Amino acid sequence: MSNKTVFGQIVSGEIPVKKLAETDRVLAFYDQNPQASVHILVIPKTTEYANVTELAAGDPGLLAEIVQVAKKLATVYADGDYRLVFNNGAGAGQTVFHVHAHVLAGDLTESSAGG
Ligand code: 5GP
Repeated sequence: MSNKTVFGQIVSGEIPVKKLAETDRVLAFYDQNPQASVHILVIPKTTEYANVTELAAGDPGLLAEIVQVAKKLATVYADGDYRLVFNNGAGAGQTVFHVHAHVLAGDLTESSAGG
């Protein structure tokens, strides 16, 4: 049995997803429980970082790449404007401990903060 998070299993291909964007280090796919008309998750392929605080400290360039991919996706799937949410810690609603950005776009009037 795998002890990876679900996102680790998505990166390794154990759980198939429709890839919306991919670079050498980053992968994007739809959230399975969308909170906005566009709700995409952008994750690093590395399983090293559990949350955005760790990522920012350990590899700020990779965090910047996540933001760049988020912007591109918002341009393709919405009007280019987007909300970027990182739930950081269980108390903030984080449920998957593989850092991920929620890219929320489109009609945001009814959407939550990605949780
Ligand atoms: P968190 O609450 O940790 O910030 O966000 C985790 C997100 O991952 C949730 O919005 C949830 O819907 C999404 N999610 C959890 N498991 C899967 C999965 O297997 N596939 C996809 N596409 N999304 C998932």
